[in-house]
Amino acid sequence: MTYTDLLFEKSFVNGEWINENTTQFEIINPVDLSIISRVYNDDRTMVKRAIDSASEAFKTWKKTSAKERSSLLMKWYDLIIANKNEIATIMTLESGKPIAESLGEIEYGASYIQWFAEEAKRNYGDVIPGFTTEKRIITLKQAVGVVGAITPWNFPLAMITRKIAPALAVGCTVVIRPSEETPLTALAINYLAHKAGFPKGVINTVVGTNASEMGKELCENSKVAKISFTGSTTVGKILMQQCSDSLKKMSLELGGNAPFIVFDDADIDLAVAGAIAGKFRFGGQTCVCVNRILVQENIYETFVEKFIEATKSLKIGNGLDTDVKIGPLINSKAITRMQEMITDAIKKGGKVVLGGNFIAPQFFEPTIMIDASVDMLLAKNEIFGPIAPIFKFKTEEEAIEMANDTIYGLASYFYTKDLNRTWRVREALEYGIVGINDGLISSEMVPFGGVKQSGQGREGSKYGMDYYVDIKYICIGNVE
Ligand code: ADP
Repeated sequence: MTYTDLLFEKSFVNGEWINENTTQFEIINPVDLSIISRVYNDDRTMVKRAIDSASEAFKTWKKTSAKERSSLLMKWYDLIIANKNEIATIMTLESGKPIAESLGEIEYGASYIQWFAEEAKRNYGDVIPGFTTEKRIITLKQAVGVVGAITPWNFPLAMITRKIAPALAVGCTVVIRPSEETPLTALAINYLAHKAGFPKGVINTVVGTNASEMGKELCENSKVAKISFTGSTTVGKILMQQCSDSLKKMSLELGGNAPFIVFDDADIDLAVAGAIAGKFRFGGQTCVCVNRILVQENIYETFVEKFIEATKSLKIGNGLDTDVKIGPLINSKAITRMQEMITDAIKKGGKVVLGGNFIAPQFFEPTIMIDASVDMLLAKNEIFGPIAPIFKFKTEEEAIEMANDTIYGLASYFYTKDLNRTWRVREALEYGIVGINDGLISSEMVPFGGVKQSGQGREGSKYGMDYYVDIKYICIGNVE
């Protein structure tokens, strides 16, 4: 296959490519704002149609055996891996992600399918001792029903598979509403699922630009049992309000404000390498990206010097060029945010010691800012771009207080060689994820998710399927 064999232009509903609206929207390559393709701009009525088809398909899909679902997931996994170069090209074109990272995302995203293909066979219930002599008690874990998955542009594949692989594994059917920035990757993998043999209506993808109306249908339609969302905290709150009427189950993976603490006993070179990986992955546009670097005062200057040297080597450009490490910002909203954050930080005493400029409209240089302070916009908000502010702290207590001083609680990182400190600090950090002496923390084998306003629920790991099942307790009485 070539990548163009995997380019589709309309929603996939009930086993067919379909459009109701005749207008199209453009999918833009953020590198040069050229048009990659045009996609039919469907809306709420198509979402409703997809929900109807998922609801119909659920009647039979939920009765399939775990082995059958497992084997379909494995076939889908194999097809994605076999076509990874083609999918990576599409992903890089529509998101600007450097090609090596796109390939990495495909392996990572597909690994959730493989993992939950295995886990599908282990959706165990319990046998519980009877609470009187003649009672026998068991539990069943049953699929919740139709799942609505609303996903962002920064991981066009992995944020879909992380949600729908566990859902499919337990017997749910799904309606995916991918970001309007990156619908092409979503359509490509839905096609491969179809080729793998998933029955019609089990996996549906609806593409369109009217996010709020499409989201409303998913939240308000009584045939949908659960919403799984990855995106901003602002939109997460809207969805939660919309789901409150029907008390729909929700999983929410929302914003982060990751601290990266370097204590004075840390291996500084290791910390610098971790900061580079954790900060500049996809140009800083991931929810676990380092947002605030906190460095203890007596190693502050050494760390800054080494961090500047390492950052200088990051090449900016078109993600299709294999040497490029920093691609373009996704859209004009991101450009404005970088401008606002830098201007605000400089006004409040921050000093730019590397970068700080746009080298073309979509390209912002990897930027290091020292003398960052907690009143800056970039200390309170998710930067989602290649700006690295460095804060100074004196004591461990101060570092913990600064790290926790945020409404968010997704990923956090710290570097130290002191064993006692690793225990103290990991317990004190109010975060769902803690990386110690490590900047790369994601895997299908671990529970990913946040606390506070970073969301609820966990994705991946042995816990991942729990969010797509109801536990039914069965009491058999009067056993003689
Ligand atoms: P980001 O800033 O990363 O794009 P958003 O939360 O705005 O984060 O978007 C994440 C996903 O949610 C995208 O697919 C987007 O289209 C969608 N979205 C945005 N607003 C709404 C809404 N009101 N209802 C449902 N989905 C929405």
